[in-house]
Formats: sequence, C-alpha cells, structure tokens
Amino acid sequence: MSGETLPPWPRRPALFLDFDGTLVEIVEHPSLATASPRLMALLPKLPGACGGAVAVITGRRIEDVDRILAPHSFFAAGVHGLERRGVGTITTCGVDAKLDEIRRRVEPFVAAHEGVWIEDKRLAFAVHYRSRPELEPDVHRFVAELERTAPRDVEILLGHKVFEVKPAAADKGRAIAAFMQEPPFAGRTPVFVGDDVTDEAGFRVVNALGGVSIKVGAGQTLARWRLADVSAVIAWLSESVNAAG
Ligand SMILES: [Mg+2]
Repeated sequence: MSGETLPPWPRRPALFLDFDGTLVEIVEHPSLATASPRLMALLPKLPGACGGAVAVITGRRIEDVDRILAPHSFFAAGVHGLERRGVGTITTCGVDAKLDEIRRRVEPFVAAHEGVWIEDKRLAFAVHYRSRPELEPDVHRFVAELERTAPRDVEILLGHKVFEVKPAAADKGRAIAAFMQEPPFAGRTPVFVGDDVTDEAGFRVVNALGGVSIKVGAGQTLARWRLADVSAVIAWLSESVNAAG
C-alpha cells in the first residue's frame, strides 16, 4: 500500500468505476444521489482517454446510474454483476425463491426498527440503516444469524450502513473479468476504483491481471493504492485524463 503516492495511469487503461462513494457522494437515500458539476465535466473526457473502455461497476440497477449520469452513458455492470451492459444481459436462474425466503425473514427485523428500509433491486435486495447507525451491532448479529442458515448460493454482504442479499453467482470481480475478455477492454490494463466491501472482489481480479486497484477511503482492502474520497477520485481522474490527452 502506497499511502502518499498517487496511483499510476497505465499507457492503455481499461477503466472500471464503482458509483456510490467513488463517483458520487453517499447520501441518506440512494435516490437522492446526484452527479457533481466536476464529475459531469470529467465524464465526456473518459472514453477518449481509455479507447472507449470505461465501465461503471455498481450495486445499483444500471438504469438508475443512467438516470443520474444522463446524458452520459457507459458500459456497465449493475446489481454487483447480475446485470451487465456490454454484450448483453446476464440473468440468474434458480435463486429467486431463495432470495424471497430470506427476504421474508428480513422483513420483521426491518418492521421492528424505524428508519431501516429495504431497497428492491429486482435481482437482489439491500437493507439500509444509514439513519440509525447505532443499530450496527444489532444488524451485524442479525446478518450473522442469516448467514448461518442461508443457502450456499446466496451471499450476504455487509457494506457502509447497509447489507445486501444477492445470488452468489455474480460479483464485481466476475463482471470485470467478463469485460476484460471483450472489446474494447481486452488487451488493456484494468484500473478499478471502489470504496466498499463489494469492491474487494474487483480488486482481487484487477490485481491478478497486473492492473491498478484503488480503494477510496479508509479500511482493510486488497487494493494496492488509496484515494481519500470522491473529490480525490475526480481530481486524480481529471489530472490523469488531461495528462494522457
Ligand atoms: Mg461504492
């Protein structure tokens, strides 16, 4: 981990970007996230600096990211790789009933704690408790109990004041690996920037490919470089793109 050194910008980058906490600030409710003017000024410069190889890799639905970044749109993996816009959409099969079963067990917990709510992502769901941070120990205990009894092909991920329940068949690492097999990404050096636990799978894949893995903010990580916050990410990307251009 090089604490002070800015991450390197490869000669032929393929750029993979997490969304919340990386490109946009994390806000109380995901629907309130907005793209800053600095981000909107940067976005149109990215494809030209990366041979078109730019993808948003997010836990959100792709349509949600498109709405916030409009009129700009990129390759994308949504719901942690359960949907992917590149060469088509990956869908999952056989897990829906199990997700529903876990959701039925989560609902009473949510109902019992005001301010805790479920975000439905169709292929997965997230439970947010941002407005009740003091509940963290209760949430962690509840998740540990869920995990103990959850089917093997369902994954539960603890993030920043959220936990997500999703099919284990997809993650951000697999989404990045899939993009790297295809034009315009193939043959380029992957760069991945992310801030949360779900991004670790992406860092692992990017490290294995000899790429540039960048963690945003504090915390344990497999990433080899670190940037402080959303503002630092946008500043670094802007400088790198301008230097490359
Ligand atoms: Mg994030």
